[in-house]
Amino acid sequence: MRERVYRNEAIILRRTDFAEADRLLLIATPAGKRWVIAKGTRKMKSRLAGHIELFTYVQMMLAVGRHLDIVTQSQIVDSFPVLRSDLTRLGCGFYVAELYDRLTAEAEENPLLFRLLVETFQSLDRSPTPELTLRSFELHLLHILGYRPQLHYCVVCNELLTPDADRYSPSLGGVLCPNHRTADPHALPLSEATFRLLRYLQAQSVAAGETLRISSATRQQAADLLRASIRHLLERDLKSAEFLNHLLSSQ
Ligand SMILES: [Zn+2]
Repeated sequence: MRERVYRNEAIILRRTDFAEADRLLLIATPAGKRWVIAKGTRKMKSRLAGHIELFTYVQMMLAVGRHLDIVTQSQIVDSFPVLRSDLTRLGCGFYVAELYDRLTAEAEENPLLFRLLVETFQSLDRSPTPELTLRSFELHLLHILGYRPQLHYCVVCNELLTPDADRYSPSLGGVLCPNHRTADPHALPLSEATFRLLRYLQAQSVAAGETLRISSATRQQAADLLRASIRHLLERDLKSAEFLNHLLSSQ
């Protein structure tokens, strides 16, 4: 049985007004995502109000409620101030939150995924290239959920791939060798630079992208390939991806 009161690390992914003065929060935790309620937090005098901001990393005390668990205390571990004050980074935050929400079920324990979220928000908060943080996040997320894109062996014949491989198949789940480059008529072009970038990001921690200098053509191709993989998985596009494209293209 669960304790009546328990402590949770959490990242607040969505926030919505509820009833007279309450807020509902979608939180990601090591024990999975869940909706909880923060009572009275829209009142002027609420002590909790400043500690349940969107896209903050917090330590929460929760009480088990009949329907939703109730936030009784919250303390900020990291408020990601740069991320939350920059429109492009915020757009990245919405994208990360939506992707996580769409690809996970409620109360599905996954501490590894929670750690990835924390590292991703930390990197979005400080990286000069938040866009590459998103590519790292996508690659690691796909890996943790069991959809790791295959970047080392041909997805048709399982031969070790060489740098001359130039097609990526979202539906087959990875790169095609030169012999099988026509195996999927919907396979997308893959340049050598993009191939190298994806392999590097897949093998490194999320922060690894922060020091890279990558041409915009390569960044765009990496984004297109991973977006196609995610679209294939979800069978449609994410709302926040459109918004984010708009922000990035208007810079
Ligand atoms: Zn092959």
